[in-house]
Amino acid sequence: MNKGKLIVFSAPSGCGKGTMLAEITKDKNYRCSISATTRSPRPEDKEGVTYYFISNDEFEEKIQRSEFLEYAGYCDHYYGTLLSEVDPYLEKGINVILEIEVEGAMKVKAKRPDALMIFIAPPSINELRRRLHKRGTESDDVIEQRIEKAAGEIAASIKYDYIIINDALEDAVKDFFLVMSAEKLKAENSHELIGEILDKK
Ligand code: 5GP
Repeated sequence: MNKGKLIVFSAPSGCGKGTMLAEITKDKNYRCSISATTRSPRPEDKEGVTYYFISNDEFEEKIQRSEFLEYAGYCDHYYGTLLSEVDPYLEKGINVILEIEVEGAMKVKAKRPDALMIFIAPPSINELRRRLHKRGTESDDVIEQRIEKAAGEIAASIKYDYIIINDALEDAVKDFFLVMSAEKLKAENSHELIGEILDKK
């Protein structure tokens, strides 16, 4: 069986990646890894579904035990990808999506060079600000902190393999599946296909 593809999916806070991922994972060949974090749950969060919410001490114990593929600090909290959320699923042929920020994304790329790097961008910073205010889950100060962070992340998007602009959800999801189709057609991913073609000689 083919192994699943590791997909890194980065988007500044408020880019609508949650909604995009909900659409994408309706396809059972895709699964989002559930990260561990030390930030407090928001009303819409569910333990073990959106994140594993753990204390600072627990997070640091997991670092000591090498349980993370990567982890990073973001707006005063730890966020990390547990290896147990990644490798068992890739082995089963499931594509695993890591929804992580840029610093962690670069760590994954260094450790797993075959990871597919996708950046989701908002149509503009103003639109991002509007969406964050509309969500209403953060104070004005935190929103401005996240906007600042977003601008830096958008500048770093050049390091990714693909950039998808999430203006209209349906189009952004379509673009994602187009990227996946293009990946499948890449010559470097086609060893099996070439074998089959040659067998039919
Ligand atoms: P939020 O607090 O809005 O849920 O997430 C804040 C940021 O942390 C987002 O950019 C999100 O992609 C990132 N993030 C979530 N989980 C992880 C993780 O496991 N590792 C890293 N490096 N970033 C993460």
